[in-house]
Amino acid sequence: MMNIPFVDLKAQYHAIQPEVNAAIADVLENTDFILGRAVGEFEEAFAAYCDTEYAIGVDSGYSALELILRAYDIGPGDEVITAANTFVATVLAITMCGATPVLVDADPVTYNLDPNQLEAAITPATRAILPVHLYGQPAEMDPIVTIARKHGLLVFEDAAQGHGGRYHGRRVGALSDAAAFSFYPGKNLGAYGDGGAVVTNDRTVADRLRLLRNLGQRVKYQHEVKGFNRRLDTIQAAVLKTKLPHLDQWNAQRRRAAADYQRQLAGIPGVVTPSVAKDVEHVYHLYVIRTPNRDAMQECLKKAGVATGLHYPTPIHLQQAYGELGYQRGDFPVTEGLAADILSLPIYPELTSDMVAYVAETIHQFVTASAETPAAQSISMSI
Ligand SMILES: *Cc1c(COP(=O)(O)O)cnc(C)c1O
Repeated sequence: MMNIPFVDLKAQYHAIQPEVNAAIADVLENTDFILGRAVGEFEEAFAAYCDTEYAIGVDSGYSALELILRAYDIGPGDEVITAANTFVATVLAITMCGATPVLVDADPVTYNLDPNQLEAAITPATRAILPVHLYGQPAEMDPIVTIARKHGLLVFEDAAQGHGGRYHGRRVGALSDAAAFSFYPGKNLGAYGDGGAVVTNDRTVADRLRLLRNLGQRVKYQHEVKGFNRRLDTIQAAVLKTKLPHLDQWNAQRRRAAADYQRQLAGIPGVVTPSVAKDVEHVYHLYVIRTPNRDAMQECLKKAGVATGLHYPTPIHLQQAYGELGYQRGDFPVTEGLAADILSLPIYPELTSDMVAYVAETIHQFVTASAETPAAQSISMSI
């Protein structure tokens, strides 16, 4: 039996231990803990990586999203359209600004915001569209941006799962007015604690974001606007600066693991593997399959030593916290269908081909065994 964790941050740390330790020690020596040198250095490197003019480091992906909306003066009375199929932080950022989230169901093939349902969600109160590059697959940005421009709307990216991806050759983060990244430890580029960043080409907005994250001050004790304390920590910036040059290689290793899964799961009845849109570079933050007998398969993998996850088990519109939005079960059938049968398999750069083969073989055995019981058979026949 193999033991395969869902993510393995230790393996990556050990591969870069000397450089990371030196970068952290450097900050400790300099004691420039708040907006120190490494913050500016990382921001410059990350903006260059994303092909944008500016990057502004903040304390989380959630803060990056919220501060983008605030920098564009989005608040009470405004509507922001986003994906029904996303992590709660996307929607929290909208409601915490006092704006109203308007959800759009997922495309049944890519699981990202369905551009065909976008125009119907636009009202005179709509200010912006906030697609999410969910699981690491860039959203269908061309139709989204075309519709937005036609209606005079802003477009932002929730790129918290999309670091380094490309859409029609262009980098994620450079596809909209401003993009939010998370550096939560398990993300494709992860800090050793919380962290986030906004990237944009808009100088005025970049300037506002620098004020908003730092108590509204440019010069100490001179407060131009009412701001927040949402700064990126210098130690985290030093870790991120050290890890960034490895990101493309790590994403390539994730894609290799995904290709291994794709090959080995192909043809197993009742297992739907991810579909990647044309001319899109998926960075596989998550490798999500669909299967009708999901809970039993998850249990079987667990018994075989394989950790899995559900992203996400309850859609936002059915969460207690969002009862106020007035949505009902049945409003977003694709998103609800996904919640019922998705399963995230382990994926990270250090996942070996042998490990993928073991996971695939366990799934194969599970499906074969359940096909021998009539109840499971009727389920697999129906898909
Ligand atoms: C992780 C994540 C966030 C929030 O990032 P934090 O750094 O945890 O605040 C937002 N949106 C999506 C889609 C995410 O996956």
